[in-house]
Order: sequence, then structure tokens, then C-alpha cells
Amino acid sequence: MTLLVQKFGGSSVSDVDAIRRVAQRVVATRESGASVAVVVSAMGDTTDDLLDLASQVSPNGPAERELDMLLTAGERISMALLAMAISDLGTPARSFTGQQAGMRTDSSHGRARLLDVTPARVAKALQRGEVAIVAGFQGVSDEEDITTLGRGGSDTTAVALAAALNADVCEIYTDVDGLYTADPRIVPSASRVTRITIEETLEMAAHGAKILHLRAVEYARRFGVPLHVRSSFSDQEGTWILVDRPLTGAQTPGPTTRHTPHSATDPRPSEDPMEDPIISGIAHDRSLAKVTVVGIPDRPGGASQVIGAVATAGVNIDMIVQNVSTSPDGLSDISFTLPEVDGAAAVAALRELQHDLGMADVLYTSHVGKLSLIGAGLRSNPAVAQRMFTALAEAGINIEMISTSEIRISVITDQDVLEDAVRAVHSAFRLDAEAEAVIYGGTGR
Ligand code: ADP
Ligand code: ASP
Ligand code: MG
Repeated sequence: MTLLVQKFGGSSVSDVDAIRRVAQRVVATRESGASVAVVVSAMGDTTDDLLDLASQVSPNGPAERELDMLLTAGERISMALLAMAISDLGTPARSFTGQQAGMRTDSSHGRARLLDVTPARVAKALQRGEVAIVAGFQGVSDEEDITTLGRGGSDTTAVALAAALNADVCEIYTDVDGLYTADPRIVPSASRVTRITIEETLEMAAHGAKILHLRAVEYARRFGVPLHVRSSFSDQEGTWILVDRPLTGAQTPGPTTRHTPHSATDPRPSEDPMEDPIISGIAHDRSLAKVTVVGIPDRPGGASQVIGAVATAGVNIDMIVQNVSTSPDGLSDISFTLPEVDGAAAVAALRELQHDLGMADVLYTSHVGKLSLIGAGLRSNPAVAQRMFTALAEAGINIEMISTSEIRISVITDQDVLEDAVRAVHSAFRLDAEAEAVIYGGTGR
């Protein structure tokens, strides 16, 4: 029997009508003969509202353990309501917290990592013919404390559950019709991608395309879980994310693990050579900041000490640029980007070492954004970078930093011009579709 894991995000269960609509979809899938395990997020903006409450009662910052206890309540509400709505339609359903579903994590509150997934109770419910509903984004540590997996973590719960149950497909239902060539809230003419490889999806998620939690994509790649991203508000076909395992089951599109050029996003005229790059899309990230360490002695070990100090403070560094020293006093500058939330910690760590390392100054800019063009064969095609930089220049956008990989070119810009930059590059690569993408709900936050 086909086994599906269906994950519904917050905007898909934002109110009573939405929960009923999701219940009908789940019941229809169940009636088609498939077994269904559901993962559900908190209703609408519940998680943000709970965070807001926490900061009101504890302006100095709530205890991490209590914050996780609070936030997981959001998913408990939606799982129970959805179970009730499904039962009301005559299909047996049972809800499970992360703990009951066997989601064991480490104890890093707010960003816990899964250590073991043993959904025995979920499997039993499925065997009894029930729909099993699991609260997303949560688990339990070895100390039996409740943990959360980080914002957007319900996607990871869904993929982990699909892997543990050996499901045929993990369906991610959201508020747009699939993965697009850019965030359709910024580029309304973005094209829906019909099929994409897991590697490109990983790159999109890692560089800001929040439609999928990065860890969910990593997990899907590691365990070979096919993903199908689609809207809970429509019956559109959505986007298939292809993994290196033969796809099976009635709902899958047939086995192919090769990068398949898709007509929606492939701007090449058909007579173009086979080795031309294939653009999959543009991701953007406006949650970054930039640090510049000014006047560091240009000698072996300088970069290692600067970056080491920041890494020791537990900060993840993204892009690093070191200028070659041109000054007679042999001083150079190092700039790097990092998540804006880690800005204060990084600057504090560097200021502590400023005197010892002989840095002239530490400059901080919180207002930067990153645009990433993603596709196969980019590095070996310099014309792609040229086209991208020309598009930005023509739009009057200044590039502050650049980095490249085999399948990505990223630039840092001022946050205020980031959206214009995304639109300029999107149209320069002729990724625009004729019809506008539909946004069914949510806020895109
Ligand atoms: P959910 O609440 O269902 O988890 P999210 O808000 O986390 O939904 O993710 C869906 C949103 O992701 C869309 O509404 C869209 O604004 C955004 N998004 C960002 N990049 C893309 C992209 N490349 N394709 C589609 N949606 C994207
Ligand atoms: N409710 C959590 C959040 O808003 C988890 C999720 O929706 O994936 O981040
Ligand atoms: Mg999400």
C-alpha cells in the first residue's frame, strides 16, 4: 500500500475553515487507498504570537527551555484540531506530540537536532487504518525536556517521519503552487519549476528560499526521500524534487534522477549546445549582516585568528573576502557576512581581541542582503556571471561582495535594493512566466 507523509504549513491551517479543508484533502487521500501520516505546523502566525508573548513577560529574554515548552503548544493545538476535523468526516485519526512520535533530539533548545526517530506509535496507528497526525517542529531530549528544531522545522519533522516510515513520498503542502524560479512574493512572474534535483534544492534552501527548511532538504538527500512541494489550496501539480533512489508508488512521476531541463525554467532555445548552463532559480536572503575588520597585519595567521575568534563565539560565517594589502604599512581588511542575529556576538568576540590582534577597527553593517543565482554548470560558463553583473549594473545596484561555487553565484548588496536586484537578474535570464504566480495565503515572513 502506498504510504504518504503530508505536511501542512501554518498558512494551510490558519483558521477553522482551513483546517476543515485540509481534513477533506487528507480524507480524500486516505479514501484513495493510501496510508497517510500528517505533520502539521502551528496555526497561521501562532509561533510569532507566542514569541511575542514570551518577550513581553520576559523582556530580558525567556529561558530557552520554557520557550520551547511554549512554542510546541502551537503545534499541539493544530494537531488536535485536525484530528478532530478528520474524525468528524468519519475517518479515524489520532494525534501525537513529537515525543509520542519518537522524535528524540539533542538538548540544544531552539535548534535541536534529531538523534533518533522511532515512530512506533505512529506506525501502529497507520496499521490500524487511522490517519496519524504528528506535531511538527518538536522533539524530546535525553533529559526528557521538550525541544524545538528551529523556525520552519516542521518540514524536517515531515521528512524525518517519511524516512523512518519508509514512505513513498513526502508531500509538503504550502501557500504557493510549488518551488518557483524566485520567491513569487517578490517576482510575481516567477515560473514554477516542475522538477528539480535535490542538490539544486539544497542550494536554494541554503541561500534563503524559505519554502523548504534547509535541514529537511539535507535529510531528504541523505535518506533518499522524494519530496513533492505543492499548494494545499489548489490541485496544481507542484514541484517534484528528485533524489537518488528509484521512485515507487502510484503518486510518483516515474524514475528519473538526472537533472531534467524543465520548459518552465529552461531559457535555452532548443538548438543551444548541450553544455550550456541550466538556471534553476534565484534565492535571496535578507537576514544577513556584514563585519569588516580593518587594518589587520597582513601576515600568515591573520585570517585564521579573526575567523577563529568568531567561530569560537558559535557564529556561522557565510562569505569571506580578504583584501590584498596595498598599503605600505602591510595592513589588510577582512570582511565577512553572517546571520544578522549573530551580529552582536561576533562583534563582541572581535572587540575583545582587537588590541591583541592589532586590528585598527571592527565595522558592522546590519543592512545587507544576498542574492544567489543557482543552476548547473555556472562556474564553467563565465558568460553567466557577466550577464548577472551586467543586469545588476543596469539596475544601478552596487555589488559589495561576490562568491561562486560550481552551481551558484552569490552577491551581497544593500538590503534596500535586494528585491530590485532579484527582479533584474530574474528577467535578465528570461525566467519570467506569462501568468502571475498565485499566492493563496500566509505572509511570507
Ligand atoms: P509554510 O507555512 O507552508 O511552511 P513558508 O512560509 O515556510 O510556508 O514557505 C512558503 C513561502 O516560501 C512562500 O509563500 C514564498 O513566499 C516563499 N518562497 C521563498 N522562495 C520561494 C521559491 N523559490 N519558490 C516558492 N516559494 C518561495
Ligand atoms: N511553527 C514553527 C514556525 O513557525 C515551525 C514551522 O512552521 O515549520 O517556525
Ligand atoms: Mg515553512
